[in-house]
Amino acid sequence: MRTPLVAANWKMNGSREFAEQFFAGLDLGGATAEVAICPPFPYLPLVGEKLKGLGVALGAQNLSRETSGAFTGEVSAEMLQDIGARYAIVGHSERRSLYGESSELVAGKFIAAQAAGLVPILCVGETLEEREEERTLAVIGSQIEAVIDAAGPGIWNRAVVAYEPVWAIGTGKTATPEQAQQVHEFIRGQLGEAGAAVQILYGGSVKSGNAETLFAQPDIDGALVGGASLDAEEFAQICRAAG
Ligand code: PEP
Repeated sequence: MRTPLVAANWKMNGSREFAEQFFAGLDLGGATAEVAICPPFPYLPLVGEKLKGLGVALGAQNLSRETSGAFTGEVSAEMLQDIGARYAIVGHSERRSLYGESSELVAGKFIAAQAAGLVPILCVGETLEEREEERTLAVIGSQIEAVIDAAGPGIWNRAVVAYEPVWAIGTGKTATPEQAQQVHEFIRGQLGEAGAAVQILYGGSVKSGNAETLFAQPDIDGALVGGASLDAEEFAQICRAAG
């Protein structure tokens, strides 16, 4: 019922040469999942050109909640839409922790993305401390609630949610399929009636070696992939594992 989605988050990595080599080596043959690539801002147009004809969507890693004006260094949802992006990641844990993005700001970005016709990929996840204190579901519930409070309940038919336990991002540690499934099921319940159709991705050290068992879980609809998305062959294998 839900088409799987695998989204690459290149983070602050890459160059024009890297993009050239990546697409020269990318063979998505055999993959039926939806695929998206989120490069750094300067490479969006170049990657957008490469994606034409591949059936792969373009995404941004961040955006402003403002529409235009005196916001030096910011990039609006309209600009991203204008250059052909379909997705925008909002609330990535690196932005929450390194740049102090609050759940309220994340909700503003979510609303701005949808208003411009982009599909926000809302990242939620708990820290190791929160998991050890058995607060995982409470933390994730409040991250989702902040978006519902600001945007209203009828927002999930044009959104993707990514569960990314902070302790699993870039650490080589992955949530077990059962741990991830428990949280995904909880998230789906939080989304109300529309929840059954929402793609809920898992993120956190996903690789070709662990993707299949994660994707076998009933509520895991694909992945947001960081480190492993920088290797075209590895990324393509993850896409194939999703469907
Ligand atoms: C991410 O940055 O969204 C992510 C999941 O990173 P990694 O796959 O490297 O853990």
